[in-house]
Amino acid sequence: MAEGTIYALSSSGGRAGVAVFRLSGDGCRLAWERLTGREVPEPRMMTRVRVRDGSDVIDEGLGVFFPKPRSFTGEDVVEFHVHGGRAIVQGLLGALAKSPGLRPAEAGEFTRRAFENGKMDLTEAEAVIDLIDADTETQRRQALRQKDGEFGKACERWRVTAIRVLGLVEAAIDFSDEGLGDGLVEEARKVAVDLRLEIDDHLRRGERGRKIREGFYVAIVGEPNVGKSSLLNRLAGRDAAIVSETAGTTRDVIEVRMALGGYAVTLADTAGLREGAEAIEEEGIRRAKAAADRADLRLEVLDARDEDLWQNRAGVGNGSIAIANKADLIDEGGWSGKHPTVLPISAKTGYGLDALENAIIGQIAGAWETRDDGVVWTRERHRLAMAAAVDGIGRFLRLDEEDLAAEEIRRCVRELGKIVGKVDVEDVLDMIFREFCIGK
Ligand code: GDP
Repeated sequence: MAEGTIYALSSSGGRAGVAVFRLSGDGCRLAWERLTGREVPEPRMMTRVRVRDGSDVIDEGLGVFFPKPRSFTGEDVVEFHVHGGRAIVQGLLGALAKSPGLRPAEAGEFTRRAFENGKMDLTEAEAVIDLIDADTETQRRQALRQKDGEFGKACERWRVTAIRVLGLVEAAIDFSDEGLGDGLVEEARKVAVDLRLEIDDHLRRGERGRKIREGFYVAIVGEPNVGKSSLLNRLAGRDAAIVSETAGTTRDVIEVRMALGGYAVTLADTAGLREGAEAIEEEGIRRAKAAADRADLRLEVLDARDEDLWQNRAGVGNGSIAIANKADLIDEGGWSGKHPTVLPISAKTGYGLDALENAIIGQIAGAWETRDDGVVWTRERHRLAMAAAVDGIGRFLRLDEEDLAAEEIRRCVRELGKIVGKVDVEDVLDMIFREFCIGK
């Protein structure tokens, strides 16, 4: 459990119009009195205050008091909004450090206390971090939905269902002598089959949550010198890759993160995929292949002057876009009537870049954004726990020995509990047992 009363500058450091300090813990009232010379005001009412260090007034600002439990952390919370000047911030930090019983908060400690005091589950706490880190529109919207507990509630529902299965199996064990066991096991298996289907479905369809949070990986691939680095620079709008006249200078994978059409995208420029390269290039080529393999989308860059590529380009479908770069070097309209799925662009002049960006956004939206915007998961730990829960149910369904089968469901309950941060099973089991009215 959390110890002591903590404080922190909650707005970002540096010169600013306003700086917000936050305090949480039982020492809040006393700290307020010490720092303002007055008693705490009406709960949740902004009040004008003079914050002081002893007799020295540091600044005049606003203060608000949230008595427990109706606060962000569930503890007494105080906020001071003062002018965001460096001397004021330093002065107030100094005064707080001198206040008895107060200590600086550790990273994430306010949110951690909110979790420990039952104000939010783990997925909601993660969403607070994601909301603060969100760079794009889709990330922000997704984090907000997770913060509303959308994913956490789904996990909790599955967990309760798994506990019900466990209850049925345990009851079956208890009542096997009275010949009631079989019906209960049957029922447990039916519920378990549905539960497995639901979690498994979610596991597969909810992956776009992680993609949106981490960013879509787009790899630029193609022969050396077709203009991959130039294209990356164009798209990134800044010099992030080495552009050179000699073939094979991009020996590693260069990654640039950017926001494209509301999505976070990591654009990777790979070494020219070329046979018979020198040894030093081979490692680059190996990495390029790996990057292309794990990419959500590949931009296959060709040279517009290469007639063969224009003619033979076929089968570009989901997961890749074929691009004919250096379109400025062939006659205007030289590509009309040629392969319709190849997109002509010029990294040099910027021709066709809008169309390319739209094609990238379209592919991402088409592949990952289903019309039903159901609940998504966002982290590897969510995936691992759900996969373990699905495995547990699978083993449960295969086992005939009820004691062992019950253990698998217990594991499933624990895994689902891990997602939201609940590991106690027994208390809920008690409740479920009572509901059965078997009353032993
Ligand atoms: P990479 O090896 O595929 O990464 O190719 P680079 O981006 O290094 O480009 C190779 C050469 O082609 C450089 O001299 C670029 O200036 C040139 N280049 C790239 N894109 C274009 C383009 O659209 N038009 C023309 N004319 N030259 C280009």
